[in-house]
Amino acid sequence: MDQFFDAHTHAHFAAFGDDYRAVIGRALESHVGLVNVGTQKDTSRRAVEVAHEFESEPVYAAIGLHPIHTAKSHHDENELGGGDAAKAFTSRGEEFDYEYYKKLALDSKTVAIGECGLDYYHIEGDEVEMKQRQKEAFLEQIKLSHDVGKPLMIHCRDAFSDLIEMLTANYKLLNTIPGIVHFFTGTKDDAKKLLDMGFSFTFGGTVTFPPKPGMPDYRALVEYLPLDRILSETDAPYVAPVPYRGKRNEPAYVIETVKKLAEIRGVSVEEMAGTTVANAAKIFKI
Ligand SMILES: [Zn+2]
Repeated sequence: MDQFFDAHTHAHFAAFGDDYRAVIGRALESHVGLVNVGTQKDTSRRAVEVAHEFESEPVYAAIGLHPIHTAKSHHDENELGGGDAAKAFTSRGEEFDYEYYKKLALDSKTVAIGECGLDYYHIEGDEVEMKQRQKEAFLEQIKLSHDVGKPLMIHCRDAFSDLIEMLTANYKLLNTIPGIVHFFTGTKDDAKKLLDMGFSFTFGGTVTFPPKPGMPDYRALVEYLPLDRILSETDAPYVAPVPYRGKRNEPAYVIETVKKLAEIRGVSVEEMAGTTVANAAKIFKI
């Protein structure tokens, strides 16, 4: 039985290269279960492949099209690797290929659809057109989540009012347990609306950072949310928690985030760990 759970990570990204087996091995040794999250076609397929490499272990996949990959030009070497081939692939921007993703979604190791959602922080090119592309891809993924009965893994940045509007308009398509808003950076008011729709929230390394003006008040959010809606994540290789801040993040470090969540809520680390594992088990049906 896992003692900790990293509900949103990318141990299958290029940043880990061949090291991903050792990285996932360290997580499993530390009793950390995890979900590797895809962001486009190849990283989604890879997430499923890696999950099967650890067939009998708590290593799962989420598959989907990240809003920034609906547009051309965003290329992150940590995610996709360097080299002209990788760059050429991403520079196209992707249309959501429903049948391709549905096949991956139906895989026994796939536990969620995403990461999908809206990201207005990374808009490049024509704003109206880019927002429209993101919305179309997100709507397709809401439909897919409904179709296969698996929860949404939502990424949202600087777009909470549009996100909530879309979810409200498509409320009938949401599953009873609709999913997770990962790396939540919205307001308390946004959180309230998403809670009312049944969503849960993942927190990562940023909760361990000292508060900074202009950043969301994570402490207040973690205090506000019901315990049965809080999960832990790393979003590795990005945003490592203290004391690893600035280094390449990895799933085993989720323990630091759980310790901080426990401190904020005034419960023991064991209790917070157990809660985050139970919440993941319920949402991902694992
Ligand atoms: Zn992510």
